[in-house]
Amino acid sequence: MNASVYELAPHATPSLSQAGRAVAMEMGGDSGEYVTRFEPTVQRTLKQPIDCVGVGVHSGAKVSLTLLPAPAGTGIVFRRTDLGVDIQARFDNVVDTRLCTVLGRADRPEARVGTVEHVMAALAGTGVTNAIVCVDGPEVPILDGSAEGFVFLIDCAGIATQDEAAPVIEVLRPVRVEADAAFAELRPCGYGFEASVSIQFAAAAIGRQSLSLALTTEAFRAQLSRARTFALAEEVAALQAAGLGLGGSLDNAVVVDGARVLNPGGLRMNEEFVRHKMLDAVGDLALAGATLRARMTGHRSGHRLNNQLLHALFADPANWRMVPADATATTGMAGWGERRLRAAAAPV
Ligand SMILES: [Zn+2]
Repeated sequence: MNASVYELAPHATPSLSQAGRAVAMEMGGDSGEYVTRFEPTVQRTLKQPIDCVGVGVHSGAKVSLTLLPAPAGTGIVFRRTDLGVDIQARFDNVVDTRLCTVLGRADRPEARVGTVEHVMAALAGTGVTNAIVCVDGPEVPILDGSAEGFVFLIDCAGIATQDEAAPVIEVLRPVRVEADAAFAELRPCGYGFEASVSIQFAAAAIGRQSLSLALTTEAFRAQLSRARTFALAEEVAALQAAGLGLGGSLDNAVVVDGARVLNPGGLRMNEEFVRHKMLDAVGDLALAGATLRARMTGHRSGHRLNNQLLHALFADPANWRMVPADATATTGMAGWGERRLRAAAAPV
């Protein structure tokens, strides 16, 4: 919803696991600094259906959500059960990015699904590649404004690995989009997906925050999934006067007024704002349709630039290629491949 600044920051250098050492030795020794990268190696879905009921943050309407298992090759599909319409979760089905990311179909303009980014982030962050997301209204429920509720649902359903390999979209050359003072870009990355985000707001409660992460399931859960969406107090009144944000409350958003956080419980974690911006980017870029092998950087980015970035990436076949999951990767968490690469060999 708000401006972001994507910047680079030094990587953590975790100690090498036995598997990591084996990979490192294959790469010519284990001296120097290493970074850990993960990519899904096989397709994954849910073990069983799971559902919840919540409210749409913009419509204020009650909506039921059900996550269904899906066969390999399905990808993520949003299903309007009230209209009998399916919409593939892809960047080229995005029809609006002004307040949230909205999917739609040109041939069924009434069948839109809004606020898809947090459930998309939860599915990507937990490595679920195939699922049907059923809703009986025009918006995914906002729950608590973060991805935590969706991660909880996925954990309750359980995750099943499937027989087929999960393809990866490898970014081959830099792609950049700009708007005013903002930009977002993707660059080639040796392995895995990284994002670097920072934000700067006049509101003293937010100020300047930055974060750089190699996306792993653990990092997603610990660093991003609980970060809530946020709004400035002066924006809230204007939104609601325009008939939007009707379901918004201090129960599902952090509201900031100058130096004050208006939520009685304050923030959940330090730098919750920039963590949420990265959560949004993970969800928006999951609309590529497969895991990206890339490093994302940018400046004052949001849903619109995130979507434009994917359009720019796929506009030229020279920008990317589809590759199978790396057969040489050691297995880290279930369904994900782990490699440790020399920090010097990674984009910095
Ligand atoms: Zn968000």
